[in-house]
Amino acid sequence: MFDTDVFVIGGGPAGLAAAMAARLKGLRVMVADGNRPPIDKACGEGLMPDSIAAANRIGIVLPECEGLRFRGIRFHGEGHSVAADFPYGYGLGFRRTALHRHLVEQATRAGVEMLWSTPITGIGDNAVQAPGRRISTRWIVGADGSGSLVRRWAGLDRFSSNSRRFAYRRHFACKPWTEFMEIYWGDACQIYVTPIAREEVCVVLISRTPELRLTEALRRFPRLVPHLSGVVTSSNERGAVTATTRLKAVARGNVALIGDASGSVDAITGEGLCQAFQQSAALAGALAASDLAHYSQLHRRIAFRPALMADVMLTMDRSPFVRRRALSAMAAQPQCFASLLAGHVGSLRPSQLLGASLSLGWQMIVR
Ligand SMILES: Cc1cc2nc3c(=O)[nH]c(=O)nc-3n(C[C@H](O)[C@H](O)[C@H](O)COP(=O)(O)OP(=O)(O)OC[C@H]3O[C@@H](n4cnc5c(N)ncnc54)[C@H](O)[C@@H]3O)c2cc1C
Repeated sequence: MFDTDVFVIGGGPAGLAAAMAARLKGLRVMVADGNRPPIDKACGEGLMPDSIAAANRIGIVLPECEGLRFRGIRFHGEGHSVAADFPYGYGLGFRRTALHRHLVEQATRAGVEMLWSTPITGIGDNAVQAPGRRISTRWIVGADGSGSLVRRWAGLDRFSSNSRRFAYRRHFACKPWTEFMEIYWGDACQIYVTPIAREEVCVVLISRTPELRLTEALRRFPRLVPHLSGVVTSSNERGAVTATTRLKAVARGNVALIGDASGSVDAITGEGLCQAFQQSAALAGALAASDLAHYSQLHRRIAFRPALMADVMLTMDRSPFVRRRALSAMAAQPQCFASLLAGHVGSLRPSQLLGASLSLGWQMIVR
């Protein structure tokens, strides 16, 4: 009756993951993207252990030999340094273009029909409008990123909260000096570094000032200067806006949103891809059961933990007082930092994560 069961608008990580998960449920899937692969985007390029697990569950396998493992997270700032290993597994630094190439290859192998250079210009009840062609579909999935048009077309463009920051990413051709993903906390900005290859690191600056660029910001981080000064860059600087956005609803009628189109957490959490992979499994189950209300419920559950961590980190960004206290408390009680990291990657129950946050709060008060 329809040309396809599921039409996914947007062939970024979320759209491709959703398509693969829907194929696992036996649905016919088409994906359209206005660009051509491999699609690059400013990204910290770090996959946390929970991202890797969520990807594997929907059949995505990323060859480790094309990226680089990291063992945990390290914070530097306010004269302190604290690190913790992941409680299980490992993180994987993976160049964004390589990630996209693998997702495209694996989705194609899974039987997803791809339409590249195909911007979708509108949606109807059971159809999408492609250039010169109307395609009928049972379900429409909006995976068209943070500026989603599908969200607007479906009447889902209502935000419950929003925080915008500006990010710049660049690659440096040097041997990683660390086995951790490192976050350097400065005054009103952070730089984070992900080891992504034996001879390459990915560096991202995030701040609330669009004019602040990486070269100038680096001078504010004396600990980073010896590692990066004089090192050849291996990509151009690429910018992006990162936002913490929560939508009132992520599905309506036969339209569902996924990935950044469905709300996002600040890039500093490194959880955007994980959410997209987890949402993909939830959405595929809901599509197969014709029950988008269930997807909405699961979406809220998936968003809870990253949103909590984003709130903690954005508070540290906004308030020098909180940042000083938090970094000092974490450095004095590395176990507290390790618990927060365990919560961040999903190995604590929500109540335990709240407990770890309160324990950090207490340490900050008594210091
Ligand atoms: C600076 C920065 C650093 C980050 N670091 C990390 C990190 O280290 N780890 C992590 O897990 N996450 C990170 N994230 C988050 C992660 O990058 C995003 O969550 C992820 O890219 C979301 O994927 P997506 O497919 O939803 O959106 P996108 O990647 O934006 O893809 C949307 C796609 O839709 C297409 N499209 C848009 N409109 C249309 C249309 N009308 N028709 C057809 N196609 C359309 C676009 O061409 C695009 O390909 C970071 C984000 C930023 C900004």
